[in-house]
Amino acid sequence: MIMELDELTLNTIRKHDDGVFQSILWKEMDIDSRKCSRIVTKLVKDGLVIREHAVSNGARTYLIRVAETVKPSFDQLLAGDIFSPCAGCRDACQPEFCGKLGEWILNLSDGDDQS
Ligand code: SF4
Repeated sequence: MIMELDELTLNTIRKHDDGVFQSILWKEMDIDSRKCSRIVTKLVKDGLVIREHAVSNGARTYLIRVAETVKPSFDQLLAGDIFSPCAGCRDACQPEFCGKLGEWILNLSDGDDQS
């Protein structure tokens, strides 16, 4: 469960599109560096941010960035509402002679006609 200060930290990190140095983050948050480090460690553990070694003004620090949340898209595997027959197929594959694939491709072009 995310706590209020964790949420505030995460929102502050989000404001920096290219990430923020941890050495700047704690000052921006107006909290001490140890507390900031603990919060960031928790956010990293929760998979919400990424922390990489970095150097800022000649001093070692971390660059903190919000973890990308890539939502899987199955659009490329759908013809209308029919899922690609190749997904999970265990047949001996010869695509040029595969009736299931041919039928599915016809559904792809049918979908194009409707748009
Ligand atoms: S082309 Fe046919 S045989 Fe090959 S993976 Fe797709 S559905 Fe299976």
